[in-house]
Amino acid sequence: MTPGCGASQGGSREEASPGGGIPAAPVATPSPGDAEGTAPSSREVPGTASLPGGREGTAPSPGDAEGTAPSRGGRGGVGPSPGSVDALAVRTVLGDLPAAELGVCDSHDHLFLRSPRLPGEELTDADAAERQLREFAAHGGQSLVQWTPYGMGRHTGGLAELARRTGVRLVAATGLHQAVHYAEEPPADLAELFVEELTEGVRGSVCGAAPRAGLIKVAGDFHGLGPHARRTLTAAAEAHHATGAPIAVHLELGTGAAQVLSLLCGRLGVPPARVLLGHLGRCPDLRMQREAARSGAWLVFDGPSRAHHATDWRLFDSLADLAERGYGDRLLLGGDTVTAAARAEGGVPQVSRVLRPRVERELGEGLARRVFVDNPAQAFAVDWKG
Ligand SMILES: [Zn+2]
Repeated sequence: MTPGCGASQGGSREEASPGGGIPAAPVATPSPGDAEGTAPSSREVPGTASLPGGREGTAPSPGDAEGTAPSRGGRGGVGPSPGSVDALAVRTVLGDLPAAELGVCDSHDHLFLRSPRLPGEELTDADAAERQLREFAAHGGQSLVQWTPYGMGRHTGGLAELARRTGVRLVAATGLHQAVHYAEEPPADLAELFVEELTEGVRGSVCGAAPRAGLIKVAGDFHGLGPHARRTLTAAAEAHHATGAPIAVHLELGTGAAQVLSLLCGRLGVPPARVLLGHLGRCPDLRMQREAARSGAWLVFDGPSRAHHATDWRLFDSLADLAERGYGDRLLLGGDTVTAAARAEGGVPQVSRVLRPRVERELGEGLARRVFVDNPAQAFAVDWKG
């Protein structure tokens, strides 16, 4: 493989100004009529688009996690009817995949990434990425979702080749990160960019046919949303309504979930079950995490690929707390291997080699199955509109 081939688009110099708001209760009710005139399709993942309020103190039922269907019917008896997930597909770099075939999933990671903020730490080595994937698979890993957005060296053509060579299902992202991660201006029409990359193929791929992206990655700011974040989240919502794609959000140091949910779900009509909140573990405020879980959005914890954030050791406290309160069906886990140093310390394989066995051991096989198999199948599978 040629490490240098793949997407190599520009970015933005637009400065994001962190908002200063204190997180309020998420306003997460999907509005019936959205800006595009397309009703949020709660039918896509029945039982997950509505607010799961009032479930505090509901113990998770370990026995309901058997089987391969992403639906478990464990949410107050409002689970999907049998067969309703058949139409849902995860958009991988090798084509649309039935949700039930996703398997053991690393829900947030990076095989390729570069940023002006991380000089010398670029992930550009395709051979190293292949070694990571092979070890991930050797320990039971079957799929990985790369959250590297537009203009950050996501190397999507390389992802397709890696998927062919290793058999691991890979999902690529469109979307846009914080402005500080770009040296150039992004395209003016972000929604158009996102929709094109979700439905036709990513721009700038030079490794044969450009695969389609399977999710939209955007980012908030520290405890709020600056102009750049508002613009990208608004474009992401528009692209969601046009395609059905899930929206994955980088929360700066785990903060700002309430503001993100208020904008995406409250104002822009994105169903909470189509929003994935990343990096929540970097702000180990259990009350905030429970509030986010109550909204119906996905809580994506990450970081086992390295132990560099001071809060990383709180991961299992959060997982246990949320599972005990009945939010095991909102949890996702990923390695989030962002740098070459993190890769050298273990990287992607940590998810299947270390993290999954520990979840099984400490929190039970039922929860492990939800977090690594059933929940990703729901979170990333979509009734694609295009
Ligand atoms: Zn990431």
